[in-house]
Amino acid sequence: MAHPLLRSLALLACPLILVGCGAQSAGDGPPSPRSSTLRPEHSAASAGAASTAGASASARPTEAKDASAGIAEGALEGTTIALDPGHNGGNASHLSAINKQVPDGNGGTKACNTTGTATQDGYEEHAFTWAVGKAAKKQLEAAGATVVMSRTSDKGVGPCVDERGTFAKEKGADLLVSIHANGTESRSAKGFGVIIAPKGPEVAASKRLGKDLVAQLKDQGFPVNRAGYGSDGLNERTDLAGLMNSSVPTALVECAEMNNPSEAALMRTKAGQKRYATAIVAGIGDYVHAGG
Ligand SMILES: [Zn+2]
Repeated sequence: MAHPLLRSLALLACPLILVGCGAQSAGDGPPSPRSSTLRPEHSAASAGAASTAGASASARPTEAKDASAGIAEGALEGTTIALDPGHNGGNASHLSAINKQVPDGNGGTKACNTTGTATQDGYEEHAFTWAVGKAAKKQLEAAGATVVMSRTSDKGVGPCVDERGTFAKEKGADLLVSIHANGTESRSAKGFGVIIAPKGPEVAASKRLGKDLVAQLKDQGFPVNRAGYGSDGLNERTDLAGLMNSSVPTALVECAEMNNPSEAALMRTKAGQKRYATAIVAGIGDYVHAGG
């Protein structure tokens, strides 16, 4: 009974309504839990500033576009920075090679390397550390630094932990930052920590580097793992062979807890990886500007 024009208008309107419904149900459906999982990470940045969460979320992608975010272009001209992304993609399939005993830096020996940890859904630490290492390298180079890496891909085996310490001095690096993530069993464990070795003439410099890294990780909104590292986020350990074998100022960053669902979700994203890299690069920048 409807006028033909009205009928065709109704036909046109229908697909429009369906598109709208589809978009709405997608927005209320699967993506919702994901964004609510990520939100605490962003709001942790500004404790109690939940009302600014939207603003900071929209600001972050803009920051992420700038490869040298967190440090001025040319600021690291003339420096050589060593990065050690933990573990390697081929370790798990070459157990005899990575179980070979190597100097532990304490007069003893320990296994060449380990496979590392993984998130509950199988995203592996070596892939995360490689992604953060690559992003940090890009930012450091944009700031004028020469970057040397302990490994050149995520498909190899090793290198062994002694080499991961000694290569920095051999390559003429001013400092070394080792990148890892924790695998604490409890899913409620959360946050980052920085570790240095209380050894050698460079211990005071390592401590300054560690503190600068902690400050910049906090600044990027990452929470300190107080249970594991205390309120200052900094531990001293003598059992980490990479640190013990290094003879330049050195710090190891445990970026987050891979068993923590919200941190795991963040660690899998390029934006999250870039934020960890930005914090590490800014920490390195602060250390260098303070005179090393
Ligand atoms: Zn590790």
